[in-house]
Amino acid sequence: MVKTVVIQAHGGPEVLEIEDRPVGEPGKGEIRIRHEACGLNFIDVYQRDGLYPMTLPHALGMEAAGVVEAVGEGVSHLKPGDRAAYAAQPPGSYAQARVMPAAQVCPLPEGIAFETGAAMMLKGLTVEYLFHRTVPLKAGDTVLFHAAAGGVGLIACQWARSEGIRLIGTAGSAEKCALAKEHGAEECINYRDADWPKTVRDLTDGRGVDVVMDSVGAATFAGSIDCLRPVGMLISFGNASGKVPPVEPGLLASKGSLQFTRPTLFTHIAEHARCQEMARHLFDKVLSGAVKIRIDQRFPLDQVAEAHRTLEARKTTGSTILQP
Ligand code: NDP
Repeated sequence: MVKTVVIQAHGGPEVLEIEDRPVGEPGKGEIRIRHEACGLNFIDVYQRDGLYPMTLPHALGMEAAGVVEAVGEGVSHLKPGDRAAYAAQPPGSYAQARVMPAAQVCPLPEGIAFETGAAMMLKGLTVEYLFHRTVPLKAGDTVLFHAAAGGVGLIACQWARSEGIRLIGTAGSAEKCALAKEHGAEECINYRDADWPKTVRDLTDGRGVDVVMDSVGAATFAGSIDCLRPVGMLISFGNASGKVPPVEPGLLASKGSLQFTRPTLFTHIAEHARCQEMARHLFDKVLSGAVKIRIDQRFPLDQVAEAHRTLEARKTTGSTILQP
């Protein structure tokens, strides 16, 4: 039996329950993995509260690292005893061990600790696809990145610096702005000041940025549109402050022939070979020292509700780990 976090109903952090569940044997295309560390992500909040509805009851969590215990028929890229890490569906990583599809599980290089693996897969693969597979970006381009001191944010700041991309961050406090700048943001604006779109304009000599990467959603959407140069791209990839309102195509015309996309990591990693290639790119960034994975919060698995409360209250920076 293994401890697993399960929800019976959508709702607040109080719906998170710990169950003792049998873990079972892997079937075709599956592995059994024993987790050393589990990652906490904002998507877990959306799945818990029902913004992204799930069939209930359901286990929760999309990211972890650990040791492969058994592999099912047809799995050739992993074997028992291998160190591994993943960002993957279906949810169920908040657990001591689990059986899961193998395709998105990646061999974890010796030089990367389990905790680091659990703190970087979902967030780091997201940064990989945002910077390399969503819109052509090159050295010298300017990106506005919201929530720049968060889990995805601090990886994005360092990634941009390593690619010569100018990243202007936003964050909710002076301390968070300082942290983003320490990690490579050229500038960081406290967007609790309502004038932040004007500050972005001023920082780009009135031109606007090439790309906005917006995971904050409802609270920032209109401002993000106002920060773009003509034919610039708004990448809306999350909704930490609430759902983005419907977009009227005419708005994109009137604001300068803007482009708009709403990607998700799970499209980009759906294919096994692509997922492994993206993971190798991420591992290279981390092993080279270009990107350091910062873990600022750790919670025992049975304090998962407290971990969710802390993330939703905007009290975290960098990545958060659950200890199974
Ligand atoms: P973060 O660590 O970035 O936490 C979210 C941050 O959002 C907060 O710390 C806070 O920073 C900011 N925020 C602004 N408004 C609110 C609000 N009303 N409530 C809560 N937080 C708010 O989380 P993650 O690194 O896990 O994820 C970052 C974002 O990226 C999330 O929106 C997530 O859903 C999205 N994402 C999307 C993916 C995709 O493929 N589409 C994949 C991975 C993540 P501050 O105080 O500085 O404002």
